Amino acid sequence: MPANACLKYADEEHLCPHCQTKLSCCTTPPFHVGDGLGWGSDVFFVCLNDACPLFTNGWKLVETQYGQNASFRYMVLPGEKTGGPMMVGSKTAFTGSEIDLKAARAKNTRYQQEQEALAQLATCVAEKNLAPVLYLITDEDSALAGRHQACQLLVELCDLNCIDPIRNHKFRHTEIGQLANLAINSILEKTFQKECPHCAEIIKAQAVTCKHCGK
Ligand SMILES: [Zn+2]
Ligand SMILES: [Zn+2]
Repeated sequence: MPANACLKYADEEHLCPHCQTKLSCCTTPPFHVGDGLGWGSDVFFVCLNDACPLFTNGWKLVETQYGQNASFRYMVLPGEKTGGPMMVGSKTAFTGSEIDLKAARAKNTRYQQEQEALAQLATCVAEKNLAPVLYLITDEDSALAGRHQACQLLVELCDLNCIDPIRNHKFRHTEIGQLANLAINSILEKTFQKECPHCAEIIKAQAVTCKHCGK
């Protein structure tokens, strides 16, 4: 499921009435709740506490009533206030289907930031705004097309403040790293400057000794 799809449930919180444990958000299994009843939702909330009395007492109850080896977990569907017991055949019935809402939220935030930065590219040169360009170049999860464009705009922006963050960034996409570093070389050339080979400070291209380190 895409990160955005489960975010609408991120703020929902449910407690198990049997053990007061916070319910986990899980993707719905590919079987139905009852005869002919679909889930009507791609996630549901369930008490995964193995010490929950509903779960621990359920085994015996199901055994005597139905002669089956199963128990109950408390579950609630999204948007509902109360839920009910759901039969489970094993302790691990929902292992691996738990959704990490925190990770989903972080993923979504990063995606929003990327979209914002992309939108700002059109005006960043006119506004002398280095931030969106720098964001895209150093965000390894952003789409390559936007990062390519940012590398081109970097030269147009010609802002020396981009040098340290880019030179110090570990690029996972080496091609973007090369483009960004080439852009820096162009900026230095355009502004008649160079990096001191000894201390890396920016100095005049024709300087013989560095005004920062004296070498
Ligand atoms: Zn419980
Ligand atoms: Zn120096």
